[in-house]
Amino acid sequence: MHSVLSQEIPSFEPHLDNSSFRIVKLDVSDHIDFDHHEAVYRCQDDESGLIAFIGIHNRNRGPAVGGCRMWNYQSEADAITDVLRLSKGMTYKNSVSSLAFGGGKAVIYGVPTANKRESVLEAFGRFVNALEGRYYTAEDVGISPKDMSIVKRNTNFVYGLSEISGDPSPFTAFGVYQGIKAACEKKYGSDSLQGKRVLVQGIGHVGYYLCEYLHQDGAQLLVCDLNEKACEKAKNDFDAEIVFSDQLFGLAIDIYAPCALGGTLSAEFVNQFTGDIVSGAANNQLVTPAIGDLIHEKGVLYAPDYVINAGGIINISFEPDYSSVAAKQRVAKIRTTLRDLFERSESENVPTYRVADEMALENLKQ
Ligand code: NAD
Repeated sequence: MHSVLSQEIPSFEPHLDNSSFRIVKLDVSDHIDFDHHEAVYRCQDDESGLIAFIGIHNRNRGPAVGGCRMWNYQSEADAITDVLRLSKGMTYKNSVSSLAFGGGKAVIYGVPTANKRESVLEAFGRFVNALEGRYYTAEDVGISPKDMSIVKRNTNFVYGLSEISGDPSPFTAFGVYQGIKAACEKKYGSDSLQGKRVLVQGIGHVGYYLCEYLHQDGAQLLVCDLNEKACEKAKNDFDAEIVFSDQLFGLAIDIYAPCALGGTLSAEFVNQFTGDIVSGAANNQLVTPAIGDLIHEKGVLYAPDYVINAGGIINISFEPDYSSVAAKQRVAKIRTTLRDLFERSESENVPTYRVADEMALENLKQ
């Protein structure tokens, strides 16, 4: 079947340098999450113990760019599922943000012990390098800027080094803040956050910076995190009210900003939600796409996750001639993208998450 995602894929087999370091291209065409992916590679290095996967979803807009996740997966099958979903997600995120990047992602199967970490990351660098620039890596869950410097020893196909664009979280938070302003404009006719009750769930790298912006803008913050210290800090720094996970249902708030892990927007949550706006940094917020329809029917304004949380990847796109000022200006445009998206959703009566997909696919054709 022809699709916008169809692409001419020249055949490519990575160079294998010896028998203890092996890269194979996997046939995953019958996987439920396979969607015109260009390739999925598996690498095993016997010396370091590295097992990793790189998924290249689509390169119509440029080389595949997306972070590397290091995680203790239950099985290799779970890691493959993750790399397929995440690499596809990067195609949509990069495309809707009009970046000259395609979609790709890497996962390292298992968190190594401290004494093995360096050699695992070096071997991962060799894996990335063997793909000859088809995929550029960066940080994701479980990986720090320091880790990326180790990966860089064996490949130049790395973004987000601490000495160049650095930690993406402040830029992601700034983009989410701009997105919340766009949502307020649409819902309330004004972008003012004065007195708005905003629940920020997850006061980590992104959540904390977001609280700072919202507090400065006059929002009344409610914070929820499994980490008590993170909550206490937000209470002290931003006069935030601490709420516990079992108190979230029926909470009197205007705006919900999910900034912890994904999957918080379930039917159960949406049905009891009394606020007006959902807009936060977490990836994959909708438990299923149908929840996006439910949110729309309820009249709640949802800022699609991969549109509002693109600040970090936009920041990276300014490498190698990096300028934080130029990057921040570009991240601010998330507000315009969301404004257009909300208008289109209203005029066509289509849920916002579907409009986001349509916009991403339209950009992919260009
Ligand atoms: P982080 O790990 O620094 O922070 C996450 C916080 O959420 C932690 O403080 C953790 O204790 C808390 N948390 C986890 N589960 C929770 C739960 N059930 N209830 C309440 N709190 C919980 O991560 P981050 O870098 O701030 O990223 C936050 C989210 O934004 C993630 O979903 C991430 O994938 C997404 N994201 C981050 C970036 C970025 O630039 N860091 C970019 C795009 C998307």
